[in-house]
Amino acid sequence: MGGMFGVELKQAGFDGVVVEGASDRPVYLWIHDGIAEIRDASHLWGKGSLTTEAELRRELGDESISVMSIGPAGENLVAFACITCDYGNQAGRAGMGAVMGSKRLKAIAVRGEGEVPVADPKAMERLYRQVVDYMTSREEIKAWWEQGLMQVIEWAQEASCLPSYNFKDARFEWAHLIGGEAIARAKVKDVSCYLCPMACKKLMRARGRAVVGPEYETAVFLGSNVGVSSLEDIAYANWLCDELGMDTISAGALIAFIMECRERGLVDDGGLDVRFGNAEAVFRLLEMIAYRRGLGALLADGVREAAKRIGGGSERFAIHVKGLEVSGYDVRAAPAMALAYATADIGAHHNRAWAITYDVKAGRDSYGEDKVRWVIYLQHVRPLFDCLGVCRLPWVELGVDLKAYEGFYRAATGVDLSLDDLLKASERVYNLTRSIGYVRGLRREDDWLPRRF
Ligand code: SF4
Repeated sequence: MGGMFGVELKQAGFDGVVVEGASDRPVYLWIHDGIAEIRDASHLWGKGSLTTEAELRRELGDESISVMSIGPAGENLVAFACITCDYGNQAGRAGMGAVMGSKRLKAIAVRGEGEVPVADPKAMERLYRQVVDYMTSREEIKAWWEQGLMQVIEWAQEASCLPSYNFKDARFEWAHLIGGEAIARAKVKDVSCYLCPMACKKLMRARGRAVVGPEYETAVFLGSNVGVSSLEDIAYANWLCDELGMDTISAGALIAFIMECRERGLVDDGGLDVRFGNAEAVFRLLEMIAYRRGLGALLADGVREAAKRIGGGSERFAIHVKGLEVSGYDVRAAPAMALAYATADIGAHHNRAWAITYDVKAGRDSYGEDKVRWVIYLQHVRPLFDCLGVCRLPWVELGVDLKAYEGFYRAATGVDLSLDDLLKASERVYNLTRSIGYVRGLRREDDWLPRRF
């Protein structure tokens, strides 16, 4: 998760937080200067994530506090409720917000002003300088400064893998209005995580709200995949998801699904006019899902459950793997990415193995073993970034050498592990998460793709 939470937590004297059990009333956790206090949050319960953040900063009297919180979706145990941190960074996928909601834990606020002990500060600083110099010398970084992740919209349109109209199409006729060039015109400023020179996030205004985003996946699922062609409408829907505390990918996927259900006459939308392209219907549905009202109650447990309830053959166009709504790449002509989706531990999530660029490079119609090997490599290497608590983008997009991560690890901890050792640990994590899936009932036959693909 982006933002400042990790830095503040470490400066407050903690490496991590484990929350056991559940409270019988709403609470928040306030961590500061080596102390962790559980405080009453009944005055915050029912409020949006962004509102909660602002109120907690006021209440605790410090604008620099980092806050992660849940919105009404997390409180109502929506299956894809997320945790929002520092105005627009998310633990987005697979319902982590519902986990906090089930514990009645509204928020965790943290502030630390202590020194962070580093085993070899000189080596750390030298390596950081080298990596920043390398990143800022790359020609590609200019597109990240200008457009951030939104540049992927134009790329996906060109590659015909841009999900549109509930994955019925892989190109969107209005892509030029919702992509990188559009955000470059609309953005107010660039936003960065702690000490990152890429500054890939873009702040824009929509309907009077300041929104950090949208980014690629959000522009797909609140844009092309629901047929919405206005960047401002997408950004406002993004703001609603942040405030309500919902993953933009799953929420948008559910709305596209119900739009297709309506198109096929499988549901009565009660006059909501839930048709592709209707942004107002998207806004209303987002609220209805978060509060489990009307059609929203039908959708709040995810697309697999919604298709079971609606029936009528709707499971044929319920786009999920293992119950998780598919991320923003159409994989019908992308075998490596398709394999990555099918075999991902948590369901079809792009961050487990972003293999589609390899499909484009190696040939979309190639089914060679090299693609299998590449997917396995990516799946094994990517947990490394989660273990280190760092962003993948400098490696994926600007080619920062993995050896640099070995150097950072050694400089920070003083532990002499090689890159090979770190990668073995990363592979173990992936195998462990697959094993947990097995214990929870997943089997090989669950490694499969939605019927539409
Ligand atoms: S590249 Fe990663 S760390 Fe840098 S601003 Fe973007 S999300 Fe944050």
